[in-house]
Amino acid sequence: MHGAIAVSEQIGPQTKHRGGHSELMACAWLLSNGYEVFRNVSQHGEIDIIALRGGKVFYLDCKYVAVATYGKTKRPLLPKDRILMGILPIYVWEDGTVEIDFNPSPSLKDRELQGECAGCGVVFIVKHYKQKFCSGNCRNHFNMRQRGEN
Ligand SMILES: [Zn+2]
Repeated sequence: MHGAIAVSEQIGPQTKHRGGHSELMACAWLLSNGYEVFRNVSQHGEIDIIALRGGKVFYLDCKYVAVATYGKTKRPLLPKDRILMGILPIYVWEDGTVEIDFNPSPSLKDRELQGECAGCGVVFIVKHYKQKFCSGNCRNHFNMRQRGEN
């Protein structure tokens, strides 16, 4: 083996280049799908790409998706604060498929945020995305009030 040149068996970009590579893939896909494309000049921005199409602006966060890690259907999700800013994930799959999720769910850890109960107004830890009440009791009382039962 002396003098042999080590050749990487890995196909596709190396880990350290994945971010840059998938952003370029996303940009190429957007351009070929009729978007006007603007890129962030910083490596560490909240938004990787801004795209324009049909009079609409899309703020995009580029996510590389390894099929081995996420399977065929699961995708890494964005933090809730980014979704609330109107940022959408654009996924670049290992196989080169590119897609935008126009209706993203927040990542699991960010579903546990503080929320204000729609019934009693107390601030509580939201355990489920879209949870509106601090307890089942509170929800029942709220619904009863809505129906005029108490
Ligand atoms: Zn409550």
